[in-house]
Amino acid sequence: MPVKHTLTKEIHKETKSGTTGCSTSIKEYPSQWVYTRNKITCEKSGCRN
Ligand SMILES: [Zn+2]
Repeated sequence: MPVKHTLTKEIHKETKSGTTGCSTSIKEYPSQWVYTRNKITCEKSGCRN
């Protein structure tokens, strides 16, 4: 499920290893991330395939 970074409002793909598709750790600051059903808006490779 996509995850939204609440500070940047950007929506990324989540990977099983606990990072976004563009390799940002979700586990480091879990309070900054929420699950969303909205479309991924991150343009970086790994999130936007
Ligand atoms: Zn991303």
